[in-house]
Amino acid sequence: MRLLVVEDEIKTADYLRQGLTEAGFQVSLARNGLDGHHLAMTESFDLVILDVMLPDVDGWRILQSLREAKNATPVLFLTARDSVDDRVKGLELGADDYLIKPFAFVEVLARVRSLLRRTQAPSTQEELQVADLEINLLKRRVSRAGKRINLSHKEFCLLELLMRHQGEVLPRSIIASQVWDMIFDSDTNVIDVAIRRLRSKVDDEFEPKLIHTVRGMGYTLEWEQDHES
Ligand code: CA
Repeated sequence: MRLLVVEDEIKTADYLRQGLTEAGFQVSLARNGLDGHHLAMTESFDLVILDVMLPDVDGWRILQSLREAKNATPVLFLTARDSVDDRVKGLELGADDYLIKPFAFVEVLARVRSLLRRTQAPSTQEELQVADLEINLLKRRVSRAGKRINLSHKEFCLLELLMRHQGEVLPRSIIASQVWDMIFDSDTNVIDVAIRRLRSKVDDEFEPKLIHTVRGMGYTLEWEQDHES
């Protein structure tokens, strides 16, 4: 995990760098706003810790540049000014969290970890679609060309896995561990049977076929739009 710390106060900066490094993060440190702005805009980080009050380019400006460049890296602000205005301004600019100086290191670490968890959580996407096949992950509903398809729990999990990885070939071993929570045993044909059932429901009555067998490798769900050569 790469973190950028932009802080002009030497003691605070060193303290943050040392603590975060010991906690296992890879820390880049910028001791002024100009360097911080440059690093934030040109390199990629998992999280940025930004001091608000910097002598040249202030924290607001850095955050603003990031968001204007559609860079959604989570930003934790360090501010000595505990005013409502500051918090509102930061939130409007797209800050993710605040820490009021002086702070305890454990608090920094807790905020950093929680922000990383929040932003790295698996997507909460509700629907997946490939061609005219749609699944709603919350309602656990599947339809193709507007027709409702009833799947068993395992079939649903299998279809979800294939759709999340559309176009990728999924080996049986991956399917086994993700859908059946088991180590693949080549003697069992449980996966092939489940794929056959899923196909009969999702592909048999429809065109184009979406689930494909890749001989000797596994299965893939793919919408091949152009077969012209
Ligand atoms: Ca400062």
